[in-house]
Amino acid sequence: MSANIIDGNLVARKLRTELKLRADLLAETWIQPGLAVILVGNDPASSVYVRNKAKTCGELGIRSEVFNFPSDISQDMLLRQIQDLNANPEIHGILVQLPLPGHIQLEEVIAAIAIEKDVDGFHPCNVGALVTGHALFRPCTPFGVMKMMAEYAIPIQGQHAVVVGRSNIVGKPMALMLLEKGATVTICTSKTRDLVHHTRHADIVVMATGKANLLTAEMVMEGATVIDVGINRMADGKLCGDVAFAAVKEKAGHITPVPGGVGPMTIMMLMNNTIEAAERAKTGMQSI
Ligand code: NDP
Repeated sequence: MSANIIDGNLVARKLRTELKLRADLLAETWIQPGLAVILVGNDPASSVYVRNKAKTCGELGIRSEVFNFPSDISQDMLLRQIQDLNANPEIHGILVQLPLPGHIQLEEVIAAIAIEKDVDGFHPCNVGALVTGHALFRPCTPFGVMKMMAEYAIPIQGQHAVVVGRSNIVGKPMALMLLEKGATVTICTSKTRDLVHHTRHADIVVMATGKANLLTAEMVMEGATVIDVGINRMADGKLCGDVAFAAVKEKAGHITPVPGGVGPMTIMMLMNNTIEAAERAKTGMQSI
């Protein structure tokens, strides 16, 4: 039997309607959520992501400001810019578009963002607070995955979840969020011996490797939920995920497509975090 498709566009549209209402409510009190996006250099993919974020902000009534710096900007200049934005009451969220050029120390830049404006959830304090379940902001991609799973009423508690990938932006926070909801979590990496053994015993598999078609049907348990975070561009220009979709969907119970799965949720969770930052600024509830 073919899997139920988890429609990221549908869930994102529903969330968009809710977010617009929240932004409108803030507007009634003369507060417009503000997002500052820092882009260093002119990486084409990053520029597209930044444009999409700014466009979605506009649709929701969020003020967005893009600061595009040349790729040779100094670390000090960048830190000074972040400090200015930290102090700016019209800016509620600050996002540094990754990747940054090699001479910039990413950790130092992220740590310079005020935690109450860290809408990407990458600040070490927010990461630490995620471990204890008290993060001010949750990283957008795994947060979006949790939202989608909730929307499709996919059980998590007591389930065996296998997360393939351990990056700070996807794999690790994904594993923590699943753990928080009571899943038994296994994290696999490129060093894992016998990946198949793990994925085959999983009720939930989250793929976040950037390796096209890595998860094949033989690696999946009948009826499992398969979440595909990967985005890979093929030689013909088409996008595909980390899951061999056509075959795996015949075995899985639920599956996310690429495109149209996790991707549309990521940007919506960023909007969610920005609006939440503005709501908190209004009520003064900003500490962990
Ligand atoms: P990273 O490259 O930072 O991490 C990839 C992870 O996958 C690493 O932990 C790596 O292991 C692991 N890995 C690589 N190959 C294998 C393998 N053969 N078997 C098991 N594990 C493997 O990537 P990101 O986490 O940043 O992104 C992952 C994917 O998700 C990418 O395709 C990216 O484009 C996409 N993405 C999509 C988003 C969306 O909105 N949909 C948002 C963010 C990312 P090791 O640590 O041992 O090297």
